[in-house]
Formats: sequence, C-alpha cells, structure tokens
Amino acid sequence: MPSALRPMPIGDTGGSIVNLREHNLSRILAALVSSGPLSRAELASRCGLGVTALTKLIADLRERDLVVEAAEVAAPGRGRPTSPIALAGHRWAVAGLMLDRRSIGMSVGTLDGTVLSFEELPVPDGTDGIEAYLPHLAAALERAVGICHAGGRQLLAVELGIAGAADSGAGEVVRSIVNGWSRFPLRDTVHGMLGALPRGVAGTVLVNLDRETNYAMLARIHRSGPEARERTVAYLGGRYAVSGGIFSRSTVEHGSSGLAGEFGHVVVDPTGRQCWCGRRGCVETRLGLAGLYERCSGREGYGSLAALAAKRGRMLDELLARADEGDSLVLSQLGEAGRWLGITVDTVAAVINPQDFIVDGYVARLRRYVELPARRQLDSIGALPSISALRLRFEDGSEQPLHRGMLLAAAQAVVAEPSIAAT
Ligand SMILES: [Zn+2]
Repeated sequence: MPSALRPMPIGDTGGSIVNLREHNLSRILAALVSSGPLSRAELASRCGLGVTALTKLIADLRERDLVVEAAEVAAPGRGRPTSPIALAGHRWAVAGLMLDRRSIGMSVGTLDGTVLSFEELPVPDGTDGIEAYLPHLAAALERAVGICHAGGRQLLAVELGIAGAADSGAGEVVRSIVNGWSRFPLRDTVHGMLGALPRGVAGTVLVNLDRETNYAMLARIHRSGPEARERTVAYLGGRYAVSGGIFSRSTVEHGSSGLAGEFGHVVVDPTGRQCWCGRRGCVETRLGLAGLYERCSGREGYGSLAALAAKRGRMLDELLARADEGDSLVLSQLGEAGRWLGITVDTVAAVINPQDFIVDGYVARLRRYVELPARRQLDSIGALPSISALRLRFEDGSEQPLHRGMLLAAAQAVVAEPSIAAT
C-alpha cells in the first residue's frame, strides 16, 4: 500500500532485479527531492552507484520524464561544463487537498516543488457529515485534474489533509471532530472518484491521507536542510487546537494507527476540565486557543470546535492586541499557557528524546508571551538528559507550510514508487 510518509524499504528487494532497479531509481529521485539538482558524480556518490549503472538509471528516468538535464554549468575548478540532473516539471503533477469543514484548500504542483496553482474552494454552510461533503471533494479533484491537463501534465499523486485523526496506513479517517466525521475509508473512496472522472484519469494516481499537522511538520523540517532531516524532532503545532508530530529516522512516525504525536491529548491534569476528545485535563484544555480565549474573555467566545476553526484568526489577533496593550488578565493567562507549554515540552521530550523541539502554529504566534515562561518552567524542573541538549525552536506560525508539506509528501510518494510514471 503506497504511503508517502513511510520509510522506503532499504535492502528489502526480494532479490528481484526489477525491484532492485526501481529501488535504485527511487534513491536517485529521493536525493533530488531532498537536495535539488545534483551532478552525476554527486548522485553516484550519494546513492552508492557506479558510473555505468547510474548512466543507465538516469536514461530510464529521463525516458519516464521524471528527470531532465538542467542547463549546463561550469564545474568549479575544472573548466569543463557539466549538466546537473534535476527533477522534471513538464509532464507530471501532484496535488494536495486540505479538507476543512467550510473549504477545501487545493494546491497543484510539480515534482520539483513548483506550485502551479492554489485555490480555496468553498464548501457551503449546511454541508454536514462526510457523505454530504464527498461531492465537494469530487469537484475539487476534478478541478485539480483539469488544472493538470490544462498545463499538459498528468496527475500522479494526491495528498489529503485531515483536521483530526487519520490512519494513513489504512487510508482511513479515524475521527475529525471539527468536520463531524468518524471512521471512513477515504483513500478507497477517492480512488473511486478519480476513476469515475469524465476526463479519464488512469487508475494510477497514488492517494494518501494524513493529519494536517504531519504535513506542516514535514515542510518545516524539509526547509531546514538535509542535516535537520537526520535528526529526531518533536513538533507542536496546530491552527487552533494543540496538535503535534514526531519525525525520526528521516520519516514521519505514525504509530500503529496514525495517532503518534497527538500531544494535545496527553492528560496533564486528570481532575481538570473536559476536553474536545471526551477526556479531562488534556494539554488542550491548558494550552488550546479556545480555553485560552475563554479564560481571557470570561465568556464562551467560540461555541463549537467548528466555530473556533472559523474564528481562530480574529481570536488570536484579539489576544495579541490585548497583550500588547498590557492587559493584565491576558498577560497572566499567556504566561500560564507558556508554563504549560514548558510542561508539555518536558513530558514529550522525556518520552521521545528528540534533538529538536519545534513550536509552530498558533502557539508560535504567541511566542513573545509564552516562550520565556516555557523556558523558565523547563529550567525549574531540572534537566533530564533528554532535556539538557534539547534545541527548542519557534517557527513563525504561518499556515502555508501545510500546503507545501502536502505537495512535498505527494512528490515523496512518487519517489517511493517511480513505476507509477512508467505509463
Ligand atoms: Zn483531549
């Protein structure tokens, strides 16, 4: 079963020459996705391939329109021009669809990371439950395929971002409280939709789904460079509720059913208030935007989780504006949230022992008020070996990495299965 965010099998080729060949093609493509255009010498060295083998493999990839020879550049110090090998952008495309309750954020791009199109397609009010949502999803897929065709490209892979819990191995939505969905075989359904499109998409489109947070994490780590991708990383993000992810051994860790890294629902206060998830005293109840806003405003200002999702920008701006004006209630609540951030970082670090801890999403936008209390909390606990070398890093909290991450994951899915482009 294809899955973009799972590790590629290494050495497990079953002894088949065809498998070994596909595996080597995959390694060349992976190096290009990771590092951009590379010379033949660099590729040979990175992939552990001899010059003759590499030449044949590159010829195969060029025939499939997966790579091209980039414009010649002078080889430094040698005086002889050399043509680096680059991922090809002219024939194949990938897409990412973020399935929000009231909109579908649709991006289409090429394997080399160029974004061809981004659109926010509205889903009308009153669309309740997944069955009612499916026609909108089908329309978005048709639109994505149409954009690919208009540019003379064929769609190879689609990633579906879920606001909630997803089992990417099984291809199922586990639960999305904000969308009102539970247990649904989304991957198979989307395969069916692609097969039924009037313009005819070959049954060869790879389809994967994942929690939105894992896509955002993937984009952040990828942008940090090759070294960062070798490190063990814990990630805390989320656009309106606390979410997280784990990156280890160069891949996203999903756990047994896709829920690894859901730090928002670690119980830190068993007698505390009720959480969205039905339990009491989750991190979400202490650090979640809804609870924070409620404590700062003295009223239930968000209603349902869906309403919170829609109002998140306004609520965050209001909290920041009040804090900037020196509002003592907001400042003390943000300080307290920072302390809980420190407690969460410590708990997660003790379990995962990461080298980097990335804070992103709305929590990162509150950085100037939460970072210091978080660091103070970490200092006050006393360092476990898992904490002492930890690098705590704040991103800017913008939402773009989610879409970049979906296109990247889709490209990685093609890389893991280059035979998809053999048609
Ligand atoms: Zn919870």
